[in-house]
Formats: sequence, structure tokens, C-alpha cells
Amino acid sequence: MSLQALTEMSNRYGRNPDYVLAGGGNTSYKDAQYLWVKASGMKLATIEPEGFVKLSRARLNAIFEHTYSADPDTREAQVLADMLDARCPGEEKKRPSVEALLHNLIPDAYVLHLHPTVVGGLVCGKDGRKVFEQLFSDRAIWIEPTMPGYYLSTVVKAASEAFEQAHGKTPAYIFLENHGVFTGGDSVEAVDAAWKYMEEKLAACGEFPVWDDTQLDDFDIPRAASIAPAIRGLTGGTVTFMRT
Ligand SMILES: [Zn+2]
Repeated sequence: MSLQALTEMSNRYGRNPDYVLAGGGNTSYKDAQYLWVKASGMKLATIEPEGFVKLSRARLNAIFEHTYSADPDTREAQVLADMLDARCPGEEKKRPSVEALLHNLIPDAYVLHLHPTVVGGLVCGKDGRKVFEQLFSDRAIWIEPTMPGYYLSTVVKAASEAFEQAHGKTPAYIFLENHGVFTGGDSVEAVDAAWKYMEEKLAACGEFPVWDDTQLDDFDIPRAASIAPAIRGLTGGTVTFMRT
């Protein structure tokens, strides 16, 4: 049963502290008609099959056909209403992850989004973009920091389409600057293989940009990590810890 496989995959990755910086991340499974995505407030480490929200993919796809308000706050509220309307009967009590639209865009059956420490070194590193170009430009896209939710999904959609035109395939990884990574596969084994490939590539990188913890002395990282899920739960948004 695919929802069971999704749950097991989510628990396995969610329990690894190296993979879930700041407690976040989300996962999904899709078939032709439906998307099951982690509900807001659920933890990957302990999520059960009921912790996923079942959404109509036709309804999610229709969101990209609509014209929404130019005002960002109004627009996100309108999109959220349409996303909630995409829930299947019986799912009304759950709130889908704000990144449900992005999960729906990725063609793979299983999708994994995490904030691993090793990826943090890449996407938050000073030379991260350069290292990305060297290691992944033929199989991945890099997305600059942008508003989460609908706007991010439109940016990723355009970048994925451009990548597909240039390379004749969809990107295997989506690296979000200052944030984390999305990857996927049509089986859990394929997701694991994609994940392993990425980790090995990053580990083999001699000039790998590392977190400089000494620069973070004046920030209480564990506290930020414990607060982030609460803010996410309240806002339905993605919480990213950034130094500016
Ligand atoms: Zn995230």
C-alpha cells in the first residue's frame, strides 16, 4: 500500500536528526488523481497514514489556470482557500502543507522535502551556487529565496519547464537557496537512490561550503528550531531561519 510506504519513508528520514534541521520537511505520494501530502503540524518522525491530507490533483492543477489578486497577502489567502477546497471529502479537518502545490508539480510518485545539514552547507554556503553549478547543473535546478507557497510554486514551475526544454528531462533535485531540497522517485527505492547520490556527490566535494557555527553564536539555534514548527502551524507557511 503506497500510503504505508510513504509513512515508512517519512518516519525513516524524519528520525534522522541530520536531515531535519529546524524540525521541518514534508513528504507526499501521488497517483494520477490524488495527492497525499503531509498535513501541517505533523512531524515526519512520527506521522501515521492519517497524518496525510488527500487532495484532488485536478483542483490543484486548476490553481495555475486562475488569475489571483496582485496583492501578495490577498493572493495567498485566495490560493489557500482553493487549496483547502481541493481536499477530498472527509479530509476537512486537516490542513495541507503550504508546499502542496510544489509537491503536486513534481512528476515523481514519491516526493521528499528536507532541510539536511549537508544540503544546508550547499544552499546556505557562500559559494553554494557555484558548487551547485559544478555538481548538479545537469540534473537539478536552483531557486533563489522567494515567498513560500503559491509564488514559490510558480517560480519552480517556470524553472522546471526551462530545465526540461534544455535537458529533455525533468530536474531530479530542486535546491531552494537558504532552505533545503526537494527530490523524488516513482518508488521509495528510487527516492533512496536519488538521496544517496546527492549525499555522495556533496560528501565528495572537496571545497564543500560548511556551516560556520561560530558565526551563529548570537543566535539560539535550538530555540529557533523549537519555535519554527509552532509558527508554521499558526501561519500555514514555511519558516526559514535566515541571517541577514
Ligand atoms: Zn522546507
